Amino acid sequence: MARFIFITGGVVSSLGKGLASAALGALLQARGFSVRLRKLDPYLNVDPGTMSPFEHGEVFVTDDGAETDLDLGHYERFTGVAARKTDSVSSGRIYSNVLEKERRGDYLGKTIQVIPHVTNEIKDFIAIGEDEVDFMLCEIGGTVGDIEGLPFFEAIRQFSQDKARGQCIFMHLTLLPYIKASGELKTKPTQHSVKELRSIGLAPDLLVCRSEGPIPQKERDKLALFCNVRPDAVIAAQDLSSIYDAPLAYHREGLDQAVLDAFEISPAPRPNLERWEDVSDRVHNSDGEVRIAIVGKYTQLEDAYKSIAEALTHGGMANRVKVKAEWIDAEIFEREDCVPHLEPYHAIIVPGGFGERGTEGKIKAAEFARTRKVPYLGICLGMQMAVIEAARHLTDMTDAGSEEFDHEAGKKRFTPVVYHLKEWVQGNAKVERAVDDDKGGTMRLGSYDAVLAEGSRVAEIYGTTKIDERHRHRYEVDIQYKKLLEEKGLTFSGMSPDGRLPEIVEIKDHPWFIGVQFHPELKSKPFEPHPLFRDFIRAAKENSRLV
Ligand code: GLN
Repeated sequence: MARFIFITGGVVSSLGKGLASAALGALLQARGFSVRLRKLDPYLNVDPGTMSPFEHGEVFVTDDGAETDLDLGHYERFTGVAARKTDSVSSGRIYSNVLEKERRGDYLGKTIQVIPHVTNEIKDFIAIGEDEVDFMLCEIGGTVGDIEGLPFFEAIRQFSQDKARGQCIFMHLTLLPYIKASGELKTKPTQHSVKELRSIGLAPDLLVCRSEGPIPQKERDKLALFCNVRPDAVIAAQDLSSIYDAPLAYHREGLDQAVLDAFEISPAPRPNLERWEDVSDRVHNSDGEVRIAIVGKYTQLEDAYKSIAEALTHGGMANRVKVKAEWIDAEIFEREDCVPHLEPYHAIIVPGGFGERGTEGKIKAAEFARTRKVPYLGICLGMQMAVIEAARHLTDMTDAGSEEFDHEAGKKRFTPVVYHLKEWVQGNAKVERAVDDDKGGTMRLGSYDAVLAEGSRVAEIYGTTKIDERHRHRYEVDIQYKKLLEEKGLTFSGMSPDGRLPEIVEIKDHPWFIGVQFHPELKSKPFEPHPLFRDFIRAAKENSRLV
């Protein structure tokens, strides 16, 4: 039976609760325990699938096809445990389940209320698969005191009462602001935040306090006294130069020991931190730098491409180089020559995206990379752009385009080398979809197998011809153009097992030009960089030595 750790936040948002949870998961693993991490989000969207990347950051897709919060990406990158549909839930999903049950008559005519119906739904969610792991870490999104968060806080309070004594602990993350004028670290906001928690029946066992510098003993003692925690359960979370230092930093601060103490696990198994020592060493000891241009649409918010940024860092760690990724708005290339913008870079990525805006600029970036022999990685929309570019410039299909843009414009303007897929095979089942289906969750989502051509560059990079990768898209490259494009040098080197859907294209006569219909960045980890990112950065490094 699992032990539960509930992670809440106070004072302000964006304190790195997800990162703290992920790092704690990694530390418990280092002590030999199995873990699973979950995120409970108070917003009313049913899932983040339809939320703007500008507002909410990237949508993280799981193997089983759930569109989830980007914190699940942190969880996977730190623990290597593949997240599932059942690891992310929002108020929207909880309410939608409750209302569905109410309509079906499952509640036998009872009046439906937040307590117990909504809280029971949350508790059932938390308990899913509880027998599978030693520790279940559940992060509650938002900040204590938010109106939307209340049913979640109430549910975890009840949950801990339902369980045996000592089976659940609460970890609260806060901020200790530093007042320059008086040279003081202030504990009052944390005291208030804990007071707020206690007023709803939750008493934290551990306080994790973000601060710019170390927390002096005097402040620790004060926090312990006023917040009713043990002094060694006040953990400092200082700003770090790399997120991948977090497990070691939290370990030095005694976080994992304090958690084991709170559960009265004694003697505590000794941790093996070799993995994280190696990761830290690679982050801080690199030789040289490669500059990567990411030509996309959502360039204002770095979190919109969080997993790509991380996967690039992992690729850099594998090759012992620093990766300097810069985001370029693709629309600029529709007004200005792309050459001076792209020339300073050692490699180019065109990432995933939706809608027509910026696509002509992305096609220009693909053309630049192909003709100038600069390493190019096209991800999802980025692969579609590379195919359209090749069709326009290597064949006589000058009006090649994607049906996505025709649908958006409401008229036919392009020869659709990329078309809207309406039925496909997943495992042994057929999936069907209409053009005007709901926007939420109607894509080809989650893990699908692909077969790689023997002797192709990708087969060499992966070291196998059978792979599975995560997808999130509606449109597909049309195989009726396969032969023509292959004759012109764009090889379809990865296909769905039934041979109908192109998964990878590559150009042989080029230092490194690969487009993938899936999202390799979602599966990269610092201790296990994704083969495509590892090799892409190797190629960028090679290019950097040439220029
Ligand atoms: N908009 C494209 C599609 O739906 C690509 C999606 C993506 O890049 N994730 O097929």
